[in-house]
Amino acid sequence: MKTTINDFRVVVPRDSLIQRIQCSYCGNNTNRTVGKVDKTSEIELVECLNCLLVTTNYFPTNQFLESYYKDNFPDYIGKYNPNEKSKVTFSKPSRFASRLKNLLPVNFFNLTFVRILDFGGADGSLALAFANLLSDTTRVEITVVDFGQDLIKSMKSNILIKKISVIPEHEEFELIIASASLEMLPNFGQTLRLLLDALANEDSVIYIRTNFIQPIRRFFPFLDFSFPAHLHDIGPDFWRSFSKLESETFQVLRTETPISELDFKSFPIRWLIATGLKFPSRLEVKMFPNKLKRFWIYVGSWEVVVRKLS
Ligand SMILES: [Zn+2]
Repeated sequence: MKTTINDFRVVVPRDSLIQRIQCSYCGNNTNRTVGKVDKTSEIELVECLNCLLVTTNYFPTNQFLESYYKDNFPDYIGKYNPNEKSKVTFSKPSRFASRLKNLLPVNFFNLTFVRILDFGGADGSLALAFANLLSDTTRVEITVVDFGQDLIKSMKSNILIKKISVIPEHEEFELIIASASLEMLPNFGQTLRLLLDALANEDSVIYIRTNFIQPIRRFFPFLDFSFPAHLHDIGPDFWRSFSKLESETFQVLRTETPISELDFKSFPIRWLIATGLKFPSRLEVKMFPNKLKRFWIYVGSWEVVVRKLS
């Protein structure tokens, strides 16, 4: 069983697979095949013709996924921060925090009380690193939603952090972080809806980072899609459709490629390759910051910031 960085591949037994007919986001059942999860696999990647979400045409059963994550994740997650206590799939959470700070609208930083939901946030290191960048006079409550037991401790009295296993009902948040989590869910659409509904008010924002590797795999088909961990490939085309379908209630504020989840010091070669591939996209975003259509899509991952309008 492989658990190296960015390689989650295992063969899923046929009786642990369920065929998926309808789009996980919009429910549409017309699609086109855009690739396979693996050269030798029969499992295809299909793009919904309505919302442009790319998804595998088979999902593993929940029972399979439960034992898969239990067996693989603790080992896998430790590889990103070999010399630190953080247990998240992002090297050096402070890098993530600075990036997120640059992406959010300036009025977010005027808030004196901020509730943060860190969905699939593992030990909560990313949300806490971001909260540590806020003023000491800002009261922050972080709710981490994840199945593991680990939870990082806050060293500041203005920041409270707790952990639960499901998205809380009847609670609202000024900021939701869903970093490298939504692409793993068979019920992607339902979960995205729950998260959007949990945004507190006008101007509350959700940050979403996902894998987006299929365009590169057209040229390098040996690259791993990481099935069955990854079930969706989510990039700018999907978010452009989302912005049309949800235009009355949500606005896509940022749509671009994230920084590499690996830091230069620990993973120099991979960092250089990832950062090189992302460079044309960076230029494109600088030149056309407000365009939702993106030309350079050979980047490996994608991120958006979505604001609630009403
Ligand atoms: Zn769809």
